[in-house]
Amino acid sequence: MNYEVIIVGGGPVGMLLAAELALAEVNVCVLERLKETTPYSRALTLHPRSLEILDMRGLKPKLLETGKPISTGHFAALDTRLNFSKLDSSSNYTVFIPQHDTEKVLEDWARELGVGIHRETEVKSISQDEHGVEVTAVGPEGKLVLTADYLVGADGAGSIVRKHAGIPFVGTSETITAILGDVVLTELSEPSIFSQFNEQGQIMVVPLKNGLHRIVAIDPERVHVPKSEPVTLEELRSAMVRMLGSDLGISDPYWLSRYGNATRQAERYRDGRIFLAGDAAHIHFPAGGQGLNVGLQEAMNLGWKLAAELKGRAPEWLLNSYQSERFPINTALLRNTEVQTFLMGSAFTSDMINVRCMLSDLLLVPEANYKLASQISAFNIQYASAADDLPHELNGRRLPELKLSSADGALRNTNAYELFRTGSYVLLHFAEDDRIRDVVEAAGAKCICLVCASLELEAPDWSDVHTVLVRPDGYVAWAVSRSESNPMNVIATGISRWCIHPSIR
Ligand SMILES: Cc1cc2nc3c(=O)[nH]c(=O)nc-3n(C[C@H](O)[C@H](O)[C@H](O)COP(=O)(O)OP(=O)(O)OC[C@H]3O[C@@H](n4cnc5c(N)ncnc54)[C@H](O)[C@@H]3O)c2cc1C
Repeated sequence: MNYEVIIVGGGPVGMLLAAELALAEVNVCVLERLKETTPYSRALTLHPRSLEILDMRGLKPKLLETGKPISTGHFAALDTRLNFSKLDSSSNYTVFIPQHDTEKVLEDWARELGVGIHRETEVKSISQDEHGVEVTAVGPEGKLVLTADYLVGADGAGSIVRKHAGIPFVGTSETITAILGDVVLTELSEPSIFSQFNEQGQIMVVPLKNGLHRIVAIDPERVHVPKSEPVTLEELRSAMVRMLGSDLGISDPYWLSRYGNATRQAERYRDGRIFLAGDAAHIHFPAGGQGLNVGLQEAMNLGWKLAAELKGRAPEWLLNSYQSERFPINTALLRNTEVQTFLMGSAFTSDMINVRCMLSDLLLVPEANYKLASQISAFNIQYASAADDLPHELNGRRLPELKLSSADGALRNTNAYELFRTGSYVLLHFAEDDRIRDVVEAAGAKCICLVCASLELEAPDWSDVHTVLVRPDGYVAWAVSRSESNPMNVIATGISRWCIHPSIR
């Protein structure tokens, strides 16, 4: 069967990307080897920017049905927590939600949008030529050969797509491992959250659903045990007794696992008609709860670009901007997880305890705390402007939750994020100039939703904005200032540069 896009891997990244493509009316399928979403949740967090992008698509209420908002996060499990509540957003918290539940919400949404999801289907090989890709898989009914215009590997760390595309996974192998246990702790009378770093190791305890707690521990006596060696309850108990002075009545392990700090990034995220996203493109020590979050942001970045290419409206540079925008962000992500690994797992000495105390004190300085909170939450992202866009300080930044009203009454103190349900570009016009409609019409861009509005609440940096084009993933493509002498010309050129293929300009 022929598709426009085949996605290998139906984890969180594959499911969100599939939904984004289906929203843009792309014929897409997901090939996933598991029969159902795994009940063992690696990730437990959805950070503020991930929540914002999912809010744009109307999914936040669903996530909050099972997830619990927490206003703080952590960096290297330092005692001073990162304060997300200072972020300028109604999503100024992390949602504590097991990966299983996040995946369920994303899969349900993808199904609602008509994505063909083939479970129990394992991809065995892929190939490409200049016309398309071919995938061989084995499913419940035997061998399957599928073709598509493009293929995305969202198939996790061991990605077969990355291997068959010949893309090197550059970086370092694991030097330490940590242990994880989802267990019952009979000596805790109520759900508790705490962490401890001392000369015996580093340990975090977090409450889960169903009376379980998650324990993650870096035990200096066990850090060189390879990831492949199964964890025993006894091993976890012994680490707890040494680090906490008690095993807290540990029993009934639901899931025991070991994970490492291998840190790698795909040398490139694209090879011809093949793309990589999520763990297939980068791996690192799970510190600060970032991997899944970053993967979701990649899915949001790639979806609309791939759709624009397939629908013949993408400018020639757009699809390659997936790599140029996301690669440096993930390089920074790998560095921040390496620093955290160093602070949590390299030495359990009084010197390291002193370093951690000092850093923890520094995080009491609001500006320092804000800087790291905005990094972990991905609020600090600013994509580079397209080469020919007129400079404006908003270019490449995330759209904040502006409160908008319109003369026709359609918007009344409305959160701008509600304008992004359909995944179109949004052209926000604040200058009450009727010529804007003609400019949009003359440009012939069908993928733009024009909104003429006024700001209900003042927003920093927005008072001089005449018109702004916001991308489907909620970042500003370009903004035009009110002092611009010929704004309609600049707007027409900006629309043409971003939303129209040169052959039809
Ligand atoms: C202990 C631990 C804790 C973590 N905690 C957090 C956290 O709190 N917050 C956070 O953001 N991140 C966290 N992470 C990271 C997070 O779990 C991953 O980044 C995330 O799962 C990546 O999603 P993905 O969709 O890219 O890949 P995956 O979730 O790995 O999904 C890949 C999918 O592809 C399928 N697949 C693979 N090969 C094939 C094939 N050949 N054919 C068909 N299907 C295939 C797999 O079955 C799988 O379903 C944690 C990781 C670990 C190990």
